[in-house]
Amino acid sequence: MDNMNISYKLPKRILTPTGGFLKEYTHSLNPYVGCSFACSYCYVRQSPIGLFRNQEWGTWVDVKQEVKEKIKTEIHNFKKRGKEVTIFMSSSTDPYQPIEYQEKITRSLLEGMVATPPDFLFIQTRSPIITRDIDLLVQLKDRLRISMTVETDNESVRKRFSPKTPPIAARLKAIRKLREHHLPVQVAIAPILPFSERFPETISQLVNRIVVDDFFTGDGSNGKRTERLNIKSLYEEDQLANWYGENAHLFAIEQLKNSFSPEQIFISKEGFLPF
Ligand code: SF4
Repeated sequence: MDNMNISYKLPKRILTPTGGFLKEYTHSLNPYVGCSFACSYCYVRQSPIGLFRNQEWGTWVDVKQEVKEKIKTEIHNFKKRGKEVTIFMSSSTDPYQPIEYQEKITRSLLEGMVATPPDFLFIQTRSPIITRDIDLLVQLKDRLRISMTVETDNESVRKRFSPKTPPIAARLKAIRKLREHHLPVQVAIAPILPFSERFPETISQLVNRIVVDDFFTGDGSNGKRTERLNIKSLYEEDQLANWYGENAHLFAIEQLKNSFSPEQIFISKEGFLPF
């Protein structure tokens, strides 16, 4: 967390009405603005959050404070009016990025949701810090799906594309721990990065649901944001062009089929929907 610009904010509201890619949810929930994982391919770099800030994406984080009572009140107010509340956490940050370790904002939101549960909560993360909150997650498990991103099993590929994210082995260990507590976990290969022949078998021993998402269906702009970030060049340097392009998901799915049945494999948005 050295050299990070950290600011503290008191948001008026914590739940955000959704649209676009997330329109099947009623709300998105971002405990932070900004993300220190700083993935090279992060589509938020090309969204207003990333573009209209005069600081490089990945070097700043705004911490949303005093959110536990807010989320309880907001969920309560929707439910009181007979409305459904389905929440995607998070659409433009990682709720378990390193600062969560000390700030515990995501944890306080979970505490609020245990007290006043939404109809459904989807948690998207790349971080093993999530295992710290198993005590709360088990209380929400009937209305929860956890999606752990594991884009590849190749550490040198991970370091090339997202050097500040947790190592693959740590993510796999976290999935194992979550599964030991019977929590519903899927693996998200999102975006698809080059992986080994052993990878499908490795993850099939941990989960029975997998979602693949490439840059063309998953960046919210049919690949335009990703093109502006020139991610293609990272693949070309290593002659990995098969793994990049509009058919990359088909290429990846062919390999996954050896370890997963077709009904266990989800493509892009369908793997992120509420149930
Ligand atoms: S973890 Fe997610 S939000 Fe954070 S930089 Fe990576 S892709 Fe972006």
